Amino acid sequence: MSDDCIFCSIVDGDIPARTVHETDDVLAFLDANPLAPGHALVIPKTHAERLGDLDPDLAGAVFDAVAAIAPEIEAAVDADGANVGINDGEAAGQEVPHVHVHVVPRFDGDGGAPIHAVAG
Ligand code: 5GP
Repeated sequence: MSDDCIFCSIVDGDIPARTVHETDDVLAFLDANPLAPGHALVIPKTHAERLGDLDPDLAGAVFDAVAAIAPEIEAAVDADGANVGINDGEAAGQEVPHVHVHVVPRFDGDGGAPIHAVAG
């Protein structure tokens, strides 16, 4: 738990969120400003700011959760694929300093950019 961390507050139940998956170590919930229907964030319940701060076992648990829920979210919103990514650090666009993996459903012909186009 870190004071003033929005995602720690979600873990603690102090800020509401639409939970889509939960284990002892990991929480996944819908993004408040979705880039597409079903846009979810997967976080470790323990506070870690950057990917490199994360205990490797916990990183494994986070990615296990991503692998489990990405196909379920795709099916739920009838998507054709998903972008899965991390903005790691302010320079990469990280706004919330608590590691989170974005799962953004994608739809054939939706016109969005692939991750490799993000930084040009
Ligand atoms: P970042 O830019 O740090 O990779 O992404 C942060 C994400 O967290 C954004 O997509 C933003 O919409 C989402 N977000 C910020 N505050 C909240 C919140 O209080 N609740 C939820 N569900 N999502 C949030």
